[in-house]
Amino acid sequence: MDYTNMTYDEACHYAPMEEPARQYFFMEYCKALLDKLKKAVGKDTLTFHIATFGCQMNSRDSEKLQGILESIGYVETDSEEADFVLYNTCTVRENANQRVYGRLGQLNNLKRKNPHMMISLCGCMMQEEEVVAKIRKSYRFVDIIFGTHNIFKLAELMAERLERDKMVVDIWEGTDTIVEDLPTDRKYPFKSGVNIMFGCNNFCSYCIVPYVRGRERSRSPKDIVAEIKKLADDGVVEIMLLGQNVNSYGKNLEEPVSFAQLLTQVDQIEGLERVRFMTSHPKDLSDELIEAMKHSSKVCRHIHLPLQSGSSNVLKAMNRSYTKEQYLELVDKIRAAMPDISLTTDIIVGFPGETEEDFLETLEVVKKVRFDSAFTFIYSKRTGTPAAKMECQISDEAVKNRFDRLLTEVQKISSEMCGRDEHTVQKVLVEEINDHAEGLLTGRLGNNTTVHFKGDSSLIGKIVNVYLDESKGFYYMGTLRP
Ligand code: SF4
Repeated sequence: MDYTNMTYDEACHYAPMEEPARQYFFMEYCKALLDKLKKAVGKDTLTFHIATFGCQMNSRDSEKLQGILESIGYVETDSEEADFVLYNTCTVRENANQRVYGRLGQLNNLKRKNPHMMISLCGCMMQEEEVVAKIRKSYRFVDIIFGTHNIFKLAELMAERLERDKMVVDIWEGTDTIVEDLPTDRKYPFKSGVNIMFGCNNFCSYCIVPYVRGRERSRSPKDIVAEIKKLADDGVVEIMLLGQNVNSYGKNLEEPVSFAQLLTQVDQIEGLERVRFMTSHPKDLSDELIEAMKHSSKVCRHIHLPLQSGSSNVLKAMNRSYTKEQYLELVDKIRAAMPDISLTTDIIVGFPGETEEDFLETLEVVKKVRFDSAFTFIYSKRTGTPAAKMECQISDEAVKNRFDRLLTEVQKISSEMCGRDEHTVQKVLVEEINDHAEGLLTGRLGNNTTVHFKGDSSLIGKIVNVYLDESKGFYYMGTLRP
């Protein structure tokens, strides 16, 4: 088909209705439009830059967006002085929005110097009506806005923007659609995230995710396994199965499949050496999953199991659907099945109504469980969530004091836990050259701890044996072994 002189309306007419064929059509169409643009501005190449904020889901989305931009013919650059700049935003924390507005001001200055530059915004922040209204009103130089449910449409939206001189806004409130088989560009050749589900049904009272990412939707096991097989054939040795709550995977499929069953299928894929997953909600972590992990040689001995609070009262107010006792029981069960498991967690300090007694219970759980590491957060009020309206917000002073006490305990335990593999040989996936010291490589153990050791870059992407000479608290120094 000759796309060169086609108008956008004609393109919409000829484009197939089914996905992903429709998007591949628009990628070809955009390619033709960009060729014309290159001639008009006298450039051989047009560049793009993606800035990703937030979690692993956004990082994975950005790899897909990057794949689409490369298919259209853009070339990646590190700088925001690019022809197409895309912010994949996060809205989990309130101040994250302010940062994006600040950076948009700077982009406007760049656009004044390069008028054909396009600026696009997507991700969770765009799912909020007030945000989009504000951008429409005060940031009129933005070219394309889309949300979390339709990232697959980037080429189609760009086609519209290239042909029509006005801001294109396409936000979906929710979706059942999962578009498979679009191009992606992985950050690492040897490891990759794989989405197994989207959205969340849990409505934890402090969290905005269910409002901006929609209800749970699982991909079919067939599509997931096919994607991973393809990745393994392409040299990927480690995958991370991604979802806001992987333990409830498959419940909404026509033929329900449990996460444990999926894991067992993934475990059998040839060429794949390591499987990780993230994130596990404690209320949904089943005995079946523990058994599946126990009998797998590929699933890494690591579970990130967000505690959030050690007080059953606070957990109730958070709408977490488990008690302190249930969490501790679960940990015991996991450890009984896999004594070498590494457990990491997230903890929020200063949730509305948290008393000193509640906080002491959190400390008690931390001491009992002995997490390998814990991400500790000061509760931050997020407009749009039930917790933001709760009374009894805690004073800054009390929160700071509790946070410091928690951090001291968490760090002490982490450094003791990290040292437990000292003077043993472990399998390590070599990830990168260490930027801080010449001749050193950095790799990761199955339990997610990092190790630095001497070696050359030809080892990157390989799994090697490393003797762990010394624990440095949160990482090891090691020596390569045959
Ligand atoms: S499980 Fe809770 S914290 Fe996690 S994404 Fe869902 S609502 Fe947010």
